[in-house]
Amino acid sequence: METIENLVIGAGISGLLCASELSRAGREVVVLDKGRGLGGRMATRRMAGARIDHGAQFFTVRDARFQKYVDEWLDAGIIREWFSHSAEDSSSEGHPRYCGVTGMTDVAKYLAADLKVHRSERVVALARDIDLWVAKTDSGKVFTAKHLVMTAPLPQSLLLLDSTGLDYAADQLSELRSVTYEKGLAALVLLDGPSGLDEPGGLKVDEGPLTWIADNSMKGISPDVSALTLHANAEFAETHWDSPDGVRGQLMIDAARNYIRSNVLEFSCHRWGFTLPVNPLQQSFFSNHHLKLMLAGDAFGGPRIEGSALSGLAAAARLL
Ligand SMILES: Cc1cc2nc3c(=O)[nH]c(=O)nc-3n(C[C@H](O)[C@H](O)[C@H](O)COP(=O)(O)OP(=O)(O)OC[C@H]3O[C@@H](n4cnc5c(N)ncnc54)[C@H](O)[C@@H]3O)c2cc1C
Repeated sequence: METIENLVIGAGISGLLCASELSRAGREVVVLDKGRGLGGRMATRRMAGARIDHGAQFFTVRDARFQKYVDEWLDAGIIREWFSHSAEDSSSEGHPRYCGVTGMTDVAKYLAADLKVHRSERVVALARDIDLWVAKTDSGKVFTAKHLVMTAPLPQSLLLLDSTGLDYAADQLSELRSVTYEKGLAALVLLDGPSGLDEPGGLKVDEGPLTWIADNSMKGISPDVSALTLHANAEFAETHWDSPDGVRGQLMIDAARNYIRSNVLEFSCHRWGFTLPVNPLQQSFFSNHHLKLMLAGDAFGGPRIEGSALSGLAAAARLL
């Protein structure tokens, strides 16, 4: 069996940026993701002619290392500024909020085009074979690698590592295990006309269960069909985790009623088991030099896309 130099688990922003840095430096890298699509929590779904961002809504940039990539994506026409001023942004300049031109997955598709990415490959078992990592996937494939970078939400990565029986984190283990994530619930809603939301079509709310309402048509990603994204808070997601869509989705639509001018045609819900880490760690990644193991993602970089991106870039820099 062929041995890969670097194996990255996760084709979200942290895994793909880590892999891109390695690949651009001439290193061999393979990425595995359990999803059919790319981008992890930067997710876009098609629904009856609509395109709906149902995970992360936009991203901001503060750090020059991430800005370098953002400038490249702007030049390539992959992303654009959605808006820069909002009610909660008091700065006179505003802070650009970027989104994919046709959806938040655009960035992942762009990055993955130059990489070896295997989709629909869920890693179900990890093991060490002398000084190599062996990853088995649910399709029965086996990948053997010198270096392993894991970028799933941290509790999921730790579950896989725990099953190896390895002492992979020594005295840092309890700190890694202390990171928890909130659950989330999104309602994807088709309307029979314009939503009636004010420009720019994205609104942070604190109304009953809702935290966010967005109009994907005003955002520019669903030109043909009027479609909303509603996000509920963690408490509502927890309470209604197993409720039928007809119940939980309807409650979310009812809470948004005052904002919406058109009628609802249909809706569905998406459960997010991991939205954001409640207590991210201060370090930008975890590394076990002896085991050639790295952990990266928003548990390290901070609870947003830029944090994840920086974590993936920092992990790659360490490997290089
Ligand atoms: C509803 C919601 C709204 C959000 N809104 C915003 C926002 O507006 N702005 C912002 O900056 N951030 C937002 N975030 C947070 C942001 O999406 C994340 O911080 C960031 O995308 C995380 O990237 P990541 O690469 O670390 O992880 P992920 O995107 O979760 O990527 C990890 C990948 O690992 C894969 N994976 C997991 N386990 C396995 C396995 N066993 N085998 C193979 N593959 C596996 C997953 O399929 C996934 O693709 C939001 C998140 C959610 C859920």
